[in-house]
Amino acid sequence: MLKTHDLTYTYAGNGPSFRFPDLSVAPAEACLLLGPSGAGKSTWLHLLAGLLTPVAGSTVLAGTDYARLSGGALDRFRGRNIGLVLQRPYFLQALTVKENLLIARRSAGLAPDKAGALHVLEQLGIAHHADVRPGRLSVGEQQRVTIARALVNRPQLILADEPTSALDNRNAARVSDLLRQRAADLGAALVVVTHDQRLKDQFDAVVELRPSTHQENY
Ligand code: ADP
Ligand code: ADP
Repeated sequence: MLKTHDLTYTYAGNGPSFRFPDLSVAPAEACLLLGPSGAGKSTWLHLLAGLLTPVAGSTVLAGTDYARLSGGALDRFRGRNIGLVLQRPYFLQALTVKENLLIARRSAGLAPDKAGALHVLEQLGIAHHADVRPGRLSVGEQQRVTIARALVNRPQLILADEPTSALDNRNAARVSDLLRQRAADLGAALVVVTHDQRLKDQFDAVVELRPSTHQENY
């Protein structure tokens, strides 16, 4: 279960300030964060990912307020509990697809699990690319590898920032379906950020950010 309370962030200098609506996302629930460009969606997702530290408020997952963690403790918590899918695929290009998944386990302090990694690649229909370097795959395939890597540690929370923005319509629909299915199978809470209103119907809960969020009128 993910729960946030009074999550607030201010960019340094004269940067904008945000106070985000409280979120509560249950295991296997899929939540969509919607809003126009500039509304603060990426900022919100980075706070949920522990990549930015809020100036106030809490982000609680499995009883731990990880907004209060830092350094190695935060890295370990994130590696074990949070799967991240960002807008564009990002990999260690010198490694194969399977090795990229195994590294994700190792950096979270988990034991290697080749069978588990292959199983996830199978679930995403890309097991035949396990020994290929990701740079040789199509963008759609690469985004599936990114999702596989986000799932491989069996996280309790999966976060995705415009995960289909680089894909054509057909691939976007497939990748979006896979993400929701696999998250539900794992019993993970899923939070997807998008500006694409068309995705609304596919989610259990929708939270809309207005463009004026940074005037703190929530
Ligand atoms: P969205 O994802 O909804 O498009 P963002 O969270 O990326 O919105 O950005 C929200 C606002 O915060 C924008 O006005 C943006 O210019 C501003 N912003 C983002 N990053 C920074 C930064 N590092 N420093 C100052 N302002 C920033
Ligand atoms: P399916 O839904 O395809 O039947 P499951 O998700 O129930 O598969 O998992 C089957 C087996 O594969 C389990 O024993 C589990 O340990 C392993 N497995 C599945 N997903 C992962 C993963 N992300 N990381 C490691 N092992 C996994």
